[in-house]
Amino acid sequence: MRSLGENWRNAQAVLTGAGIDSARLDARLLLEYLAGCRYTDLLMAPEKILESPAQQVFDALLARRAKGEPLAYLLGEAEFRGRVFQVSPAVLIPRPETEVLIELALEKLQGLSAPKVVDLGTGSGIVAVSLALECPRASLVAVDLSQDAIAIARNNAGRLGAKVDFREGDWFSPVAGERFDTIVSNPPYVADGDPHLALNGLPFEPQMALTDGADGLACIRRIVADASVHLNPGGWLLFEHGYDQGEASRNLLTAAGFKAAVTFQDLAGIDRVSGAFI
Ligand code: GLN
Repeated sequence: MRSLGENWRNAQAVLTGAGIDSARLDARLLLEYLAGCRYTDLLMAPEKILESPAQQVFDALLARRAKGEPLAYLLGEAEFRGRVFQVSPAVLIPRPETEVLIELALEKLQGLSAPKVVDLGTGSGIVAVSLALECPRASLVAVDLSQDAIAIARNNAGRLGAKVDFREGDWFSPVAGERFDTIVSNPPYVADGDPHLALNGLPFEPQMALTDGADGLACIRRIVADASVHLNPGGWLLFEHGYDQGEASRNLLTAAGFKAAVTFQDLAGIDRVSGAFI
């Protein structure tokens, strides 16, 4: 039988030994989750015993974390924009830089009375759900090829009270013949074989959500090529991309007849979202 304090110290040592940068925080969050307690409880009552079977589950999750599995998958949830979203290995873990996409979409929706928005490749639904909650005038459609992702996204929308029309299918296929005021997407944009795919827990994430299996621009090309027939006049297409894909994205937009193609940076000053209007 081990106390919370012993578990915390041991878990930190295990994760540090495994080269996990966030060892202290991860150990703490795992322990809080298994003990069903808060940080202050860990500090105030470290002598409390972690009961069985929580201890066994803690040991098992700790071993998985030490092997690099992201904490979000172990806990089954991740925070994005102040909300907790359910996640599983069927969906990408939310990245803070995706907030740039949300902020820009909200800006483009300003002044529109009942805008229609579609989110392509919704994954866990963070983009569609955030937009639905933060722009209640908008009606949201969210598309994903993965049935498992749609199930998670639908659950997130339900738990967070967001009204989103989820549809399973390939990019624009489920919205054939429909037009929107804004199209948003965080598509897979990492090039096949990019060494980044082997780092930081990415091997545990769905590869179909990370890489297009080609040069990193294959999905962006498809989205840009098909977007204009799905936009109302003046409507914006906005999509997330990699740090070195800004210029190529703007060129694709311009070649497809979009106006004023522009790239926006994330908080780290890295090219992150490009967009244009029709
Ligand atoms: N930003 C993610 C990463 O580099 C990739 C997300 C994506 O492909 N949409 O890990």
